[in-house]
Amino acid sequence: MLPRNAADYRTILWALMMPVVVVAQYVNPKLIPFLCPLSFYFSMAAGTIAHNHNHCPTFKNRKANQIFAYWISVFYGYPTFAWVPTHNLNHHKHVNREGDATITWRHTNRNTWYVALSYFFVSAYHQSGPIKEYIAKAKRSNPALYREIIRQYAIWIGAMAVAVAAGIGVHGVATGVKLALLTVILPGFFGTWTMMWFNYMQHVHCDPWSEHNHSRNFDGWWMNKLLFNNGYHAAHHENPGAHWSKLPELHAKIADKIDPALIYKNFWWWIFRYYVVTAFAPSLETKQLGRAPFDPPENTDGKGPRPKMRERGPMTDSVDALDAGNNAQMA
Ligand SMILES: [Zn+2]
Repeated sequence: MLPRNAADYRTILWALMMPVVVVAQYVNPKLIPFLCPLSFYFSMAAGTIAHNHNHCPTFKNRKANQIFAYWISVFYGYPTFAWVPTHNLNHHKHVNREGDATITWRHTNRNTWYVALSYFFVSAYHQSGPIKEYIAKAKRSNPALYREIIRQYAIWIGAMAVAVAAGIGVHGVATGVKLALLTVILPGFFGTWTMMWFNYMQHVHCDPWSEHNHSRNFDGWWMNKLLFNNGYHAAHHENPGAHWSKLPELHAKIADKIDPALIYKNFWWWIFRYYVVTAFAPSLETKQLGRAPFDPPENTDGKGPRPKMRERGPMTDSVDALDAGNNAQMA
């Protein structure tokens, strides 16, 4: 059960704390107001861990990677296999251009609080296509992968059912349902919502045709410590197989080539500046930087990856990503 990278002892510690926070609230529901924010945070952290685990499996051992995927699915709020068809095989290939199921410009290219809030529902609807196709393909040609997908769904739904039943069994209907909602079900929704919103704010108004300006970055200490270096998004896209702990140094190598408007220190200030202030002053909204995703340069067919990205490409393939034990090439 050893992690491939020593930095993932922290990932494991976070994963172990997730159920502790939930169980503490079940033991003493008076702790809900104090610990439930932590449950929401851990779901968001589980989202970044799920992302990292699908790019770079956490453990050397295949079985350990499978079990870790189940564990994280419960706290993240969705079976983690879904990252493969929607993220590794789709988003990393198209980077917010046509063909990306998670495009930020589907109905409008404006970046406002209401587009950001509703993006989850639009994106989830359009991601359901690649997920269904992936499951159908697994069912046809890879029974082991198909069984793994079904197991992830069963464990995720089963955990929510257990949370409701345990809450009602121990504390009665009102407190039991409240416990399940506030410690497992709503944090899970928040985990998936935030992962999609991160994708939105990391790409909206960026230039996917540019070598380094394809993503928005946050280089502040707190955000990157709490979310496993998720702020270094350009470095991640350019090195999708690199371990999350290497992203600060990879970011440092390209930081001076990224437009300064796409590197922010303070995550909360960015939210305040671009969602609260712009609610009253729309002229201060972010503007498209460089070439828009829907405006391909003449020398491309508008669909293919940039030449540089083609070489580096997503490091996982559909089957290997779940067949994590055999993923030496993904390290
Ligand atoms: Zn990624």
